[in-house]
Amino acid sequence: MRNMLSRLAQELEPYVPGEQPVDKVYVKLNTNENPYPPSDRVLAAIHGAVDRLRLYPDPENTELKEVLATYWNSRLSYGSPKLETENFFVGNGSDEVLGFAFPAFFTDREVAFADITYSFYPVYAKLFHCTYREIPLDEDFQIPVEEFVKLAKEETPPAGILLANPNAPTGRGLSKEDVEKIIRANEESVVLVDEAYIDFGGESVVDLVREYDNLLVVQTLSKSRSLAGLRVGYAVGSETLIDGLNRVKNSFNSYTVDRLAMAGAVAAICDESHFQRTRHLIMETRSRVTEKLEEMGFNVVESEANFIFVTHKSHPAKDLFQGLREKGVLVRYFNKPRIDNYLRITIGTDGEMDILLHALEELLA
Ligand SMILES: *Cc1c(COP(=O)(O)O)cnc(C)c1O
Repeated sequence: MRNMLSRLAQELEPYVPGEQPVDKVYVKLNTNENPYPPSDRVLAAIHGAVDRLRLYPDPENTELKEVLATYWNSRLSYGSPKLETENFFVGNGSDEVLGFAFPAFFTDREVAFADITYSFYPVYAKLFHCTYREIPLDEDFQIPVEEFVKLAKEETPPAGILLANPNAPTGRGLSKEDVEKIIRANEESVVLVDEAYIDFGGESVVDLVREYDNLLVVQTLSKSRSLAGLRVGYAVGSETLIDGLNRVKNSFNSYTVDRLAMAGAVAAICDESHFQRTRHLIMETRSRVTEKLEEMGFNVVESEANFIFVTHKSHPAKDLFQGLREKGVLVRYFNKPRIDNYLRITIGTDGEMDILLHALEELLA
């Protein structure tokens, strides 16, 4: 019998997410989820939306776009042009938004991204028939800004540049000035800045969207809003870029974000004090744990994210990963060149991090 899978499906190399174990309860520091529950207002809003589940949701996601526009406009510097709802696109998690960006802008074209970055980028590139180029990070895992600036000078510059800022799995951030340099130089390319972790210490470039037509910023409610399970992400960009995303979405599924998710997301964006409290807690825990790990002989890459990327001077990361697992603590280990002696550890509650530190002390002894 002939192979029932298409050639495309046969050749895909799907993304492998961090495990969601069902065998027992772990201290789960492997998928960068927020250790704190979402705002109480989220639950109330979802509850309030239940009696309308019989109806399809708004395919335009208007209410959330309005709330996002208000949120971002209140953060723009005085005199900057305002963002309109037409500058926003909402999706079923930012992974879906990224997934739509590929056919919208990059199919049959080339994209460039760092050699060590979010491992979903090459997966989408293959699915949507894009060639891609990987630009090596510096020795200390920093994005080589000049290498990205230089792309514009090539005879055929890439159609797209993807930057995760702060980067994953390293946690290192780029300054706003450096991101702007890359956007400004590459005016012929769509520069997609994936800001999944921006609320943990980085500087967003959303306020540059009205200035640069080639800039698309992607954010998510999964990390800093504690809503990984709800699946809501969004993009901010020029009307032209947002139109590209809408063209793809409306050729695939008009209702990617359900009523409950929409109600919960609106409530989450509106609860500023919950957001500020929880993100600061995570940043404080990150500083404390970084100091402790350094005392234990770890090198900790400077992080602006809700995770840290660490290596130990004498204990192989792979052994520590396995040892932690046996002690009920899950972290992430990538068996890939350049980073195969590192662990990526999500910042949990102080209590969870104390369990991690104690388990590491035992493993190092
Ligand atoms: C977690 C993550 C995302 C995806 O988040 P969603 O849950 O799909 O919104 C996107 N980019 C990076 C770099 C991430 O780490």
